[in-house]
Amino acid sequence: MARRNKAKFIIITGGVLSSLGKGLTSAALGALLKAKGLRVSMQKLDPYLNLDPGTMNPHQHGEVYVTDDGAETDLDLGHYERFLGVPMTRRSSYTAGRIYSQVLAKERRGEYLGGTVQVIPHVTDEVKGAILSMNEDDLDVVLVEVGGTVGDIESLPFLEAVRQLKSDLGRSHCLFIHLSFLPYLETSGELKSKPTQHSVKELRSIGIQPDIIVCRGPMPISAESKAKIALFCNVPQDAVFTAVDVKNIYQLPIKLYEEGLEVKVSKLLALGRKEPDITPWQSLVARQAKLTKRASVAIVGKYGELMDSYKSLKEALGHGGLAHEAEVEFNYINAEEVRPDNVGKILKSAQGVLVPGGFGTRGIEGMIAAVHHARTHKIPFMGICLGLQCAVIEFAREVAGLSHANSEEFRPKCRDNVIFRMTGWYDPNTGLRAQRDPSDDLGGSMRVGSYPCKLLPNTKAFAAYGTALIHERHRHRFEFNPKYIKPLSEVGLVVSGQGPDDPLENPALPRPKLVEIIELADHPWFLGCQFHPEFKSSPMTPHPLFKAFIGAALGQSGKKG
Ligand code: GLN
Repeated sequence: MARRNKAKFIIITGGVLSSLGKGLTSAALGALLKAKGLRVSMQKLDPYLNLDPGTMNPHQHGEVYVTDDGAETDLDLGHYERFLGVPMTRRSSYTAGRIYSQVLAKERRGEYLGGTVQVIPHVTDEVKGAILSMNEDDLDVVLVEVGGTVGDIESLPFLEAVRQLKSDLGRSHCLFIHLSFLPYLETSGELKSKPTQHSVKELRSIGIQPDIIVCRGPMPISAESKAKIALFCNVPQDAVFTAVDVKNIYQLPIKLYEEGLEVKVSKLLALGRKEPDITPWQSLVARQAKLTKRASVAIVGKYGELMDSYKSLKEALGHGGLAHEAEVEFNYINAEEVRPDNVGKILKSAQGVLVPGGFGTRGIEGMIAAVHHARTHKIPFMGICLGLQCAVIEFAREVAGLSHANSEEFRPKCRDNVIFRMTGWYDPNTGLRAQRDPSDDLGGSMRVGSYPCKLLPNTKAFAAYGTALIHERHRHRFEFNPKYIKPLSEVGLVVSGQGPDDPLENPALPRPKLVEIIELADHPWFLGCQFHPEFKSSPMTPHPLFKAFIGAALGQSGKKG
């Protein structure tokens, strides 16, 4: 077997404050390295103890991003995929909880030979093992983002591990970038470097000397400030860079290129002098700057305005708009406030209505009222996961006359459980049948990851994708109950996407082919999907469904009801 390439590692830490855009800066640097023709991937190390963010509330932590192989991850992985255009995997995301649970499992298996299990070396070795496992993907460069802020107690084991990693791998194979913040003080009219000096001092006290410092701030830093930072932080002046605030995140690769960050990184890691081709980023930004149309989309969900809860969704709608030279205007509507008597007023100016994914009963009847309005007023509608489920319930109640139709999630013993919880399914990632265990923990009890879906010709779904077989990412517990395919199809519901035959089909289980997409024929564009297409959209390749949805929204006056 051919020997695998040994990747070079870029470790990115953050100082002073959280929310500095470490994920975005890392992803933009990754994009630049990829634009040089290198094979690049990324990894995120998160210091919290949850095994993964799957059980965390989107209000607190933002969206849970899902990879093809079914990992529930931090939303930064979404940025990584959108900037790099390569799929992330389970290996791309480790939390401290996952590291500790691996250590504890080894301890139970007796793998530490009766020794005392300690943070150093056992936890740190596990972290290093996780980082080095990226070598299995045959890459040139791996960017590893260490979550949290330097100085947090929680991130210490990760920092100690990367400190060791640099000595293990050597200078030419491991580079430290520290992203810091320069506050602007209005009274003195200058950017202050003291917090950066302190955070680098903190890093150095644990044995990490950054090779490069990237300062985030509202404006470029003067040569004088750069010199001061260089002096106090023990780096050469040409290793201090600025990451200025940008309006459009896709300007970041260009800005970092202009700053010369890629040249410096390439020099330190001997990545070659090939110029990155940044023309795709330039033309993307140019196209984004001259959007001539506007599409107003109402998002009727329960996570409200919190930007990060629907991060990938917002991005994907933007990409869909870009494909039509249109800016997408988002209007977040709290589903709990929507009722049949006010829905017309609330959605009056919506050119498209979208019901996104979500969990729990809150706001469901409002979402169903929004579906009803979009269906009966012929406003383009897209339902994602929970949105599909609401659309099926609405259709069953209003068109098929099943007035008690509901989902087992909201009404466990409902008479017509058009949406139900399965007892087992084929998992293409493992090749096994995953079984529902009624005593399941909440974590890990869902259908998560990529599943195939066959499209029915002559449907909106087929027209959008232009192909018969697709693969999309899932994250849900409940499904369209196959028992209702026939009665609902008979009154006009079109099942345009279904899982292919189940290779492990067991007649004892209540499902053969799962419903993946539903739509209506007598409507400009009404489509629900059980999967989350937003995870696979990128600015360079807008997702076909978002492109089609925004296209339909643009062809619609929206002044109805
Ligand atoms: N709560 C629903 C389910 O678990 C929908 C999930 C989602 O929208 N991601 O099936």
